Amino acid sequence: MKPDSQLAKNLESVKQQIAEAAERSGRAADGIKLVAVTKYVPVNVIRPLVQLGCRDLGESRPQALWEKAAALGDMPVEWHMVGHLQRNKVDRTVPLVSLVHSGDSLRLLQAIDAAASAIGRRVPVLLEINVSGDATKHGFAPAEVESLLPAIVALPHIEVRGLMGMASREGDLEQARREFAGLRQLRDRLQQVAPPEIKLTELSMGMSGDFEIAVEEGATIVRVGSALFT
Ligand SMILES: *Cc1c(COP(=O)(O)O)cnc(C)c1O
Repeated sequence: MKPDSQLAKNLESVKQQIAEAAERSGRAADGIKLVAVTKYVPVNVIRPLVQLGCRDLGESRPQALWEKAAALGDMPVEWHMVGHLQRNKVDRTVPLVSLVHSGDSLRLLQAIDAAASAIGRRVPVLLEINVSGDATKHGFAPAEVESLLPAIVALPHIEVRGLMGMASREGDLEQARREFAGLRQLRDRLQQVAPPEIKLTELSMGMSGDFEIAVEEGATIVRVGSALFT
């Protein structure tokens, strides 16, 4: 565990990098949300982070999100589900989250819709797209999502806000840039065919190794873990 001053430094440095990347691409830094992915750290490290003003927190495993949300129930946290959400975990997760980034199948979205309906909410979701084509990754294939869009947007208790994607693992930054640009173009194309009340404004892309490139390519949300906690 690092002292809080290290955490504060890391947070400042990530924010600075986001601001500089935004400036390079002629965008406003305040249009980009930092989600701190807290999967590596226990709640005693998360508390100071929230006290430093970082209120958007992400977890990739539902069970960890439940536990941390309960432990931090006294703090002003917006929870983001960023990893694969199994359908049998939807009922417990939906009441806790501000945004599900990982809407990766129609069946999952239907389950989220039902759980949201049961608590009288409309849940914001992103459609996860398998941009790298990696068969081990979750997400809609870029080519299938347009034909599924009518069924997705018809779900009354889901509010589709945009797309989420992860670059290939290999760490080739030019490849990551192409994948992020592809996600942005897919979003633009889907927006043209979507009903006008659907606003695909969000692009959740970029992690510790590639968030600056993601911002340059149009990310509105970056999901950063290890750069904050090392
Ligand atoms: C772990 C994780 C992140 C953060 O990864 P880092 O490389 O540690 O910044 C972002 N998104 C998802 C879906 C993750 O699982």
